[in-house]
Amino acid sequence: MIVRYPCLEVDLKKVEENTRFIVDKCSEKGIKSFVVMKVYCGFKEIAEASLRGGAYGLADSRVQNLEKVKELDCPKLLLRIPMKSEAHDVVRLADISLNSEIETIMQLDEEARNQGTVHKIILMIDLGDLREGVWFQSIDTIVEDILKLKNIKLHGIGTNLTCYGGVMPDDENLGKLLEIKNEIEKKHNITLETVSGGNSSSLYKVLNDTMPEGVNMLRIGETIVLGRETAYGELVEGMHEDAFTLKGEIVELKKKPSVPIGTIGMDAFGNKPTFEDRGEIRRAIIAVGRQDVNPDGLDPLDEKIDILGASSDHLLMDVTNSSKEYRVGDIIEFKVDYGALLNVSTSEYVAKVFK
Ligand SMILES: *Cc1c(COP(=O)(O)O)cnc(C)c1O
Repeated sequence: MIVRYPCLEVDLKKVEENTRFIVDKCSEKGIKSFVVMKVYCGFKEIAEASLRGGAYGLADSRVQNLEKVKELDCPKLLLRIPMKSEAHDVVRLADISLNSEIETIMQLDEEARNQGTVHKIILMIDLGDLREGVWFQSIDTIVEDILKLKNIKLHGIGTNLTCYGGVMPDDENLGKLLEIKNEIEKKHNITLETVSGGNSSSLYKVLNDTMPEGVNMLRIGETIVLGRETAYGELVEGMHEDAFTLKGEIVELKKKPSVPIGTIGMDAFGNKPTFEDRGEIRRAIIAVGRQDVNPDGLDPLDEKIDILGASSDHLLMDVTNSSKEYRVGDIIEFKVDYGALLNVSTSEYVAKVFK
């Protein structure tokens, strides 16, 4: 088989094991795990690995990614507050969506009626992180309005933290969420099935056994993909951090100076570059560029390699200190961070290889 480079290699067994690790920890605490696919653009092979690992459902921000997994038999959750204009696809592709605007919810109600179904929503509450959600002090009228709709089921409430404002999930804000749930139930004489307590940044409370009782759903992306919890940025012991690897090919390898010769103007991106004089070095050019990935998010597995910079199509590296004698045509492997994984998954120039 001919492999095209650059490629993103995905170890499906490791994705499955990472999922199993998180699903088991969560279910011990009565929490359902929705696995979030958006960072890898909803590739079905990877989603299937998470289902083999016991994921309760699949979640994504984009209806296009939910479409890719629509044949897979599990609940689907739309994460991004829906656009009114996509209501048709939301009802068609998602069993549940996260919402905060009554106008949109009414649109979903109408769509659900047309499609002969009932669409479930989770009302998002902003507990202070200032991304999405109804401000926690003013939820009353929207709940009343939602309960009037015949083809919408208020499945529960939820929150998102540590995304815009960097606010950590804690007993105070999650406690507030549970309080709000109780108030809604009492006031309207209903039961809410779900309290969705956040993303990978809420996992530390599961892992150290401090999650308040009543939170019964989490939406987990990054930790399953990169083996890292995101409240403190710690690797989770027992998980794989290397399920995803970017591979690029050396197209030029030459001894050259480390500082350019001539008057320094601007680089291809309008910045005035500066250089450290390391004398003459072995410079490798990899056929990967900013069109594929922000080089700041790449970390070569060969620790003796330094990334010098990148243009649209070239990644420049100093391989002088490596113990390996690299040659043209050799493959260099990189660990990716969340942003880099988002980039390379999205780039149509990066082949995807599942093993
Ligand atoms: C992206 C997203 C998640 C998953 O976040 P991770 O940090 O990758 O776990 C959960 N909920 C919402 C609303 C999201 O947009």
